[in-house]
Amino acid sequence: MSAQLILQPGKERSLFRRHPWIFAGSVERLAGRARLGDTVEVIAGKQVLAKAAWSPESMIRARVWSFDPDEIIDNAFFKRRVAAAVARRGVLPWLTLQQGLRLIHAESDGLPGVIADKYGDTVVVQLTSAGADKWREAIAGALAQATGCSRIYERSDSDVRGLEGLEPRTGWLRGEAPTGGMGDIVIEEHGVKMAVDIVGGHKTGFYLDQRDNRRLLGELSAGKRVLNCFCYTGGFSLQALAGGATQVVSVDSSEPALAQARANLALNPHLDAGRAEWCGANVFDELRRLRAAGETFDLIVLDPPKFAPSASHAERAARAYKDINLQGFKLLAPNGLLMTYSCSGGIGLELFQKIVAGAALDSGRSARIVQRLQGAADHPVDLAFPEGEYLKGLLVQVS
Ligand code: SAH
Repeated sequence: MSAQLILQPGKERSLFRRHPWIFAGSVERLAGRARLGDTVEVIAGKQVLAKAAWSPESMIRARVWSFDPDEIIDNAFFKRRVAAAVARRGVLPWLTLQQGLRLIHAESDGLPGVIADKYGDTVVVQLTSAGADKWREAIAGALAQATGCSRIYERSDSDVRGLEGLEPRTGWLRGEAPTGGMGDIVIEEHGVKMAVDIVGGHKTGFYLDQRDNRRLLGELSAGKRVLNCFCYTGGFSLQALAGGATQVVSVDSSEPALAQARANLALNPHLDAGRAEWCGANVFDELRRLRAAGETFDLIVLDPPKFAPSASHAERAARAYKDINLQGFKLLAPNGLLMTYSCSGGIGLELFQKIVAGAALDSGRSARIVQRLQGAADHPVDLAFPEGEYLKGLLVQVS
């Protein structure tokens, strides 16, 4: 019999709204024994409200697998949830032909702690919660069945695993590396080839969430001088070149990322490499250097890493966002566009907009939002789980 997580009185309300997290402060006690990742029944009064994964070391003490008190959490459960996530994407026309595609977006696909991205015929899984970790085999089997992919690689090396009491873990769950090494995984995105390093790259290797925004940048780039800050492997830069930019200056502090970016450009002989300039530097310094040199750009992308992983980092992060946006505004030519993002869970859309507004004000530029930007449709946000909306962006035009 599974253990029972007894909620404090009144703490069942978020479960009635189908929010999947149960915080430590909501738990009265655990009746029975449960180990890391075991399934427990969530009880309020005498009623079973949900089945959840027990995570004794985390502030999020349990994550709900199912709000159906009778649903059994077993291999078949994961088969159903994974197949449903894959099927949902199959009806969204923007997604059906993508070679790089997020198949499972954790909580928003009913699978807390489970990320799965597909690159060609290879699936990369990242398991970040105790419950997900426990069901590794079931999840791998379900992914193999739902996709027909014979290669599944695990990239469970994200820092957040530490909060759950889990060690990093990487390696092949199904199949093995193709001969010639992993440099072989190449996907095409909006007509541009991109190599994806699933073993050593960020996240599962690529920032799939920005797919639509990279296309938008391409559409805006004809005849423009573009600055792409935090360029990683050049996703935005190559779309700008493909869209007809006259020059694209890309900045990143990671040499391996820049080397990959250059290699990606070489994979696309139809793009004019003479228009691309790669700059290994700290963006905070480089923006000031460009300003001091009197440079201006028609289009600037700011896609920094997560400055605020949680709300406790929000203040320091806000200063960092303000700084780069302020410097960005100063570098824009008349009528220029700033495409600016935050992927910090700790900074909400409203706060982000305020920060950007403050930056515009201090730069002395008048500016207006011409479009709000978000993650692509394979990174959906469950309406019951607003925390899923981590990526927010603004396309802002100055006078
Ligand atoms: N826009 C990219 C993803 C950006 S990820 C895409 O579409 O693929 C964030 C990048 O910022 C990483 O490549 C990281 O190396 C870089 N980075 C982090 N801090 C930096 C800093 N202070 N200066 C320059 N680059 C930085």
